Amino acid sequence: MNEAPPPIRETIVKCPTCGGDSLYAQSNVFRPFCREACKNIDLGAWASETFRVPAPETDPLSDLDAPN
Ligand SMILES: [Zn+2]
Repeated sequence: MNEAPPPIRETIVKCPTCGGDSLYAQSNVFRPFCREACKNIDLGAWASETFRVPAPETDPLSDLDAPN
């Protein structure tokens, strides 16, 4: 059974960070934020309760420190 998620309906939402108009559409990769800066600012508080944002720029290799 293939249940593809329904396409996002384009609408204008309120940006959670700056409160301005944000285009909630598939073309807006920062949705529901209006821009990248707003997304980054709010990411910390946001991710703790609703984790739906994939880690953007984490390099797992840089986190490897072998304890020996
Ligand atoms: Zn904003």
